[in-house]
Amino acid sequence: MKKHNYSAGPCILPQEVFEKASQAILDFNNSGLSILEISHRSKDFVAVMDEARALVLELLGLEGKGYQALFLQGGASLEFLMIPYNLMKIEGKAAYLDTGTWASGAIKEAKPFGETVIVASSKESNYTFIPKDYSIPADADYFHCTSNNTIFGTQMKSFPETNVPVVCDMSSDIFSRTLDFSKFDIIYAGAQKNMGPAGTTLVVVKEEVLGKSGRTIPNILNYEQHIAKESMYNTPPVFAVYTSLLTLQWLKNKGGIAAIEKENESKAALLYAEIDRNSLFNGVVATEDRSFMNATFTLKNIEHQETFDALWKAAGISGINGHRSVGGYRASMYNALPIESVQVLVDVMKEFENKII
Ligand code: PMP
Repeated sequence: MKKHNYSAGPCILPQEVFEKASQAILDFNNSGLSILEISHRSKDFVAVMDEARALVLELLGLEGKGYQALFLQGGASLEFLMIPYNLMKIEGKAAYLDTGTWASGAIKEAKPFGETVIVASSKESNYTFIPKDYSIPADADYFHCTSNNTIFGTQMKSFPETNVPVVCDMSSDIFSRTLDFSKFDIIYAGAQKNMGPAGTTLVVVKEEVLGKSGRTIPNILNYEQHIAKESMYNTPPVFAVYTSLLTLQWLKNKGGIAAIEKENESKAALLYAEIDRNSLFNGVVATEDRSFMNATFTLKNIEHQETFDALWKAAGISGINGHRSVGGYRASMYNALPIESVQVLVDVMKEFENKII
């Protein structure tokens, strides 16, 4: 039986994507070859890469606006390093908003490059809210933020107005909500949440911000090199890119980001309403900063854990244990998770209440 998969990533993808990807492993485009055995330079794969890169820009509303989409490797974690390498000037300065484990990981990688200013942090309160009152130094080479904090379950609902280039780690909420994406100069995201399997990282970059750091950048870390080679500087992760393309096509056929955003809002409203109504649970983070992708919650009485865990496991739910640094539960409701799965979890929470009270 298919599980109700709440995994934080890698995570659920649409069933039709699993089916089409499986078929391509056996026989890609009726070529008599598997997608796993063809050259990345073959006509069929170059078409996949071109379409995937174009579709990213189309879905984000960034076509013809000076952006390039790249499918790289090394995870979002390598982007923590590539961002300062490509953008921070020698003796330069970068501004970071510290909203969680991944944001602070990005800060650590930037520090050796120059002055790294943390404009605000919610670390003292274990990242349960998004800081809002801060100013970004006008002479910073860029401002970096994390739109959705996968571990803690907070999400930025607005972004600062600034004249410095804005870089955003959107690993866990890209393609989930409408934003004016042209306000960002670089967006990056590991594929393994809303876009595809683990193994590739999407980088969307406004070309005009590149080439200004004055640094000698190793080719493999240089966005300009990747753009010049049309995202094939080295052998790309063929299967991860293909599966990402299938997921992007699925999203386009559903009506794009605006359509999925409505579904995501309904799913989040359903679950948060139950967290708030049910006297046995606590939401973990500030209400106004709640993530629509990752809902974190705890039991008011830890002694009930065994009973609750047995109930959700019996209902076919998988992957809702919280991150080890937070504890409790985390229900990740990425694009491909159907609302029916959220209803199953809500029903389990009600059943649990009936049992205990
Ligand atoms: N940023 C965010 C917001 C994440 O959720 C993650 C992974 N869960 C990362 C960065 C790190 O991504 P990767 O494992 O692809 O390096």
